[in-house]
Amino acid sequence: MSETPHPGQEPQDGIRGLPAEDTAPDNPGRVAIVTGAARGIGAGTARRLAADGMAVAVLDLDAGSCDATVEAITSAGGRAIAVGADVSEDDQVEAAVATVAEVFGPPAVLVNNAGVLRDNLLFKMSGDDWDTVLNVHLRGSFLMTRSVQKHMVEQRYGRIINLSSSSALGNRGQANYSAAKAGMQGLTKTLAIELGPFGITANAVAPGFIATDMTAATAARLGITFQDFQASAASQIPARRVGEVDDVAHAISFLASEGAGYISGQVIYVAGGPLC
Ligand code: NDP
Repeated sequence: MSETPHPGQEPQDGIRGLPAEDTAPDNPGRVAIVTGAARGIGAGTARRLAADGMAVAVLDLDAGSCDATVEAITSAGGRAIAVGADVSEDDQVEAAVATVAEVFGPPAVLVNNAGVLRDNLLFKMSGDDWDTVLNVHLRGSFLMTRSVQKHMVEQRYGRIINLSSSSALGNRGQANYSAAKAGMQGLTKTLAIELGPFGITANAVAPGFIATDMTAATAARLGITFQDFQASAASQIPARRVGEVDDVAHAISFLASEGAGYISGQVIYVAGGPLC
């Protein structure tokens, strides 16, 4: 089914891109929510899950920033809406999930992808840098999952995919981010244990170096060109290249698929080689 966003239409209740006549929750296929999906890995994952036949809620801080992702999906014949919410804010999360359930029906797939960096060496890292990173990655994933799980439990079906990172194993200048991404793995395993009896799986995807705005920002902070940064990283990776958004989206698509129902509590590194 093809849906066309209304050009120039102002978002109502944080939703964009869905014609009014298609707001009944009777769409075929699973409903997915991808956080941080305005760009990068989240945008690529939203496009991939839509191509897999899911109706996708493209969630990011600002609904307007999701327009390009929604447009890419709907122009390819898929179904998507943009939803604005800060995943670290309880009220915004509850409102966003309620909106998705109202528009598309109960969500069955959740990809906790929203993320930020506040890199610094420990002695220079502020409390705010620590709190911001832990709040977006960990608290955000907790709030989103707590809100979505009730819909999954009712359906006796769910697929939760959390974005961890190779930095979970430790990385200089990323005490906050490493702690958050290691925490995502503990959260994932606990979700798998608690929600498994309800037909819900929880897995983590842990990318290595993926070329996105996030890694481009790191290159800028280090004072080197993004091209040189990627070349340097690629020389250390067995695959001899850095990752692309689609490399991660492919792994998430697999874990979100119906057939992956007996895989739960796992961490899949998407890093072009093994990590110690
Ligand atoms: P990007 O910075 O390109 O995209 C992150 C998205 O998350 C942005 O659209 C951002 O919005 C959004 N976001 C930030 N804070 C919030 C919030 N509080 N609520 C809702 N949305 C928010 O990152 P990547 O695509 O590179 O990374 C995606 C995920 O993958 C992250 O969790 C990251 O840690 C992880 N990852 C990435 C790797 C890489 O090499 N790129 C490697 C390993 C893991 P805005 O633009 O408004 O800030």
